[in-house]
Amino acid sequence: EKTSVTLLGLGSMGTALARAWLAAGHPLTVWNRTRARAAALAAEGARAADSAAEAVAASPLIICCLLDDASVEEVLAGTDLTGKDLVNLTTGTPAQARARAAWARERGARYLDGGIMAVPPAIGVPEAGGYVFYSGSRELFERHRETLGVPVGTTYVGADAGFAALHDVALLSAMYGMFAGVAHAFALIRKEDIDPASLAPLLADWLAAMAPSVHRTAEQLRSDDYTTGVASRLAMQVAGVPTFVTTAEQQGVSPELLSPYFALMHRRLAEGGGEEDLTGVIDLLVR
Ligand code: NDP
Repeated sequence: EKTSVTLLGLGSMGTALARAWLAAGHPLTVWNRTRARAAALAAEGARAADSAAEAVAASPLIICCLLDDASVEEVLAGTDLTGKDLVNLTTGTPAQARARAAWARERGARYLDGGIMAVPPAIGVPEAGGYVFYSGSRELFERHRETLGVPVGTTYVGADAGFAALHDVALLSAMYGMFAGVAHAFALIRKEDIDPASLAPLLADWLAAMAPSVHRTAEQLRSDDYTTGVASRLAMQVAGVPTFVTTAEQQGVSPELLSPYFALMHRRLAEGGGEEDLTGVIDLLVR
């Protein structure tokens, strides 16, 4: 017998999740503020509840996929969560997740927070490699592991309800750093007779080749030794900074995306980190 699921929130993500559970044969109750979206899913086999309270009452497992934490508060306010397993896939900060976990406990519910590492078209498509970070009640996670794994993969990262959001934000933050570098790279060739499409595969391969360096960074952080396994000393890299800044200037490109990182490299060098990897920069960020 497949677990009955209640899903609150049928935006692009919620709708994709709903379809995956329906396709896998899970009895699904849905509710959405704008009713038309629930009606569309009812036509595909879901049960559309008239209110959030009715939807919550319908299943042991309640999934929220709403816009933000404020909308979760608003939607769940008038519902009875006693004895429910509440899984919140709404993006928020670690602090919001921890507060929501305590809030759910006070209402007699078990709580699991989730951070979705996938876009809606990747839901229900295992080959796309998407997954959800989960943190909070391990008991809830183990009990519903199979059901939760239907739309997309699952990765449990700890009992601290804030850890899923923290992992989510950490990965996306690294992504934005990469996007910043990519923006600068394309800007450098923008006015030249270079086809962006010829730079793209070179960029993609280079970024992929550089990505495994995160493992060395992690080892250095664990051992508190930033000088082991260093191929490119900080002192050498700082000596190269003028090449990047001058090239940007000569290409008529603002160095504003790279400058803050270079400034941190300079500071670490001034503080004696010349023989280190770039790992020392991390310590300058942590206040
Ligand atoms: P959408 O903007 O498509 O949908 C938002 C949903 O929240 C709708 O169901 C909307 O209802 C509902 N909602 C908003 N405010 C309220 C409120 N005050 N009361 C009741 N319902 C409300 O967003 P997505 O579906 O794309 O995203 C949902 C969550 O998933 C977000 O937290 C997002 O960060 C996360 N996520 C999304 C990804 C994506 O690529 N889309 C990727 C990873 C995570 P209504 O239909 O009535 O407007």
